[in-house]
Amino acid sequence: MIPAVMPTYARADVAFERGEGSWLTATDGRRFLDFGSGVAVTALGHSHPHLVAALEAQIAKLWHCSNLYRVPGQERVAGRLVEACFADTVFFCNSGAEAMEACLKLVRKYHDGEGRPERYRCVVAGGAFHGRTLATIAAGGQEKHLAGFDPIVDGFDRVAFGNTNELRAAIGPQTAAIVVEPVQGEGGIRDAGVDYLRAARAAADEHGLLLVLDEVQTGMGRTGRLFAHQWADIAPDVMAVAKGLGGGFPVGACLATERAARCMTAGTHGSTFGGNPLAMAAADAVLDVVLAPGFLDEVCRVAALLRGRLDQLAAAHPAVIEEVRGLGLMLGLKCRIPNGDLVARLMANGLLTVPAGDNVVRLLPPLVIGLAEIDAALDILTRTCREIAP
Ligand SMILES: *Cc1c(COP(=O)(O)O)cnc(C)c1O
Repeated sequence: MIPAVMPTYARADVAFERGEGSWLTATDGRRFLDFGSGVAVTALGHSHPHLVAALEAQIAKLWHCSNLYRVPGQERVAGRLVEACFADTVFFCNSGAEAMEACLKLVRKYHDGEGRPERYRCVVAGGAFHGRTLATIAAGGQEKHLAGFDPIVDGFDRVAFGNTNELRAAIGPQTAAIVVEPVQGEGGIRDAGVDYLRAARAAADEHGLLLVLDEVQTGMGRTGRLFAHQWADIAPDVMAVAKGLGGGFPVGACLATERAARCMTAGTHGSTFGGNPLAMAAADAVLDVVLAPGFLDEVCRVAALLRGRLDQLAAAHPAVIEEVRGLGLMLGLKCRIPNGDLVARLMANGLLTVPAGDNVVRLLPPLVIGLAEIDAALDILTRTCREIAP
């Protein structure tokens, strides 16, 4: 008999009851160190006092307000995002896939407005992940996500991730945009590198295309800058953000320059829940913390410490870990054993991690971890590598 909850996930047999900082407590009393953060979502850990207070204050006032009316929280959060990055304008939605969907729609609308409606195709990368809607599974192109969902949404041309020559060769008269994750998350913590991002920017400028960055996972401080593309000193025209933006409250955003968004006028796009007052209270509180002076410097400092310890771990256990990769606190252990085995054994030993493509185990700790959490995680990692070594 089919379970009441549609069985679209392969779930581990554990349920969590409460969380505090980097720690989760399960309903059976077990405690876990959370180096998954709900896949890069709870960026400030669990029950962060500033987020709790912000949501408690808003929950007593107003939960929902239609986009038929002004929503002051949206104006405030959008203003802060615009101030902090390349963007001039922000559309709010509820998830990463919706944020990417808005980016893809904006791309078509832009070229339509330029009198070039034949430009509708996006150059996308192998190993990409952009969400689970019909358009975003087509953009991601993973066979396991597309199987059985034909016909595939048209308009995506795939090139090898990180290969500038292939990228340039794929651009044709119908190309509208280049779409890329600065660091692939689901694809296995693969870093495009600053040279590739700069080359993508240059190719987009040369051909009159929009550069769309999917920063759903890399954004909001995960890599040590507010957005990962800032490491490359380039700016996209359009960007999707979600995961860490609400610190655990569902919220997504499509950010764009004024030029790219100039045809996104009243009635062209919408969302009932997008920019909900609770979501905006959460995002505003996250921004209070992440934009505070010194916060991202501290993320970089802690990330370098963790990276050093992981490099030592990999050197000591070459039969288990082939290499450490990633940027900031978006780290991956490329495994020599099946990554799912390592994730399961780490969990049995009290450390939560997330599997990814390319046989990688992702480490996505809260951005607020300290030395004690790094020590605790390395203890578990070391013990687990010893247990599991073939
Ligand atoms: C998680 C993710 C998405 C999809 O986000 P959802 O909130 O699950 O829809 C899109 N792009 C990237 C890079 C992601 O990591």
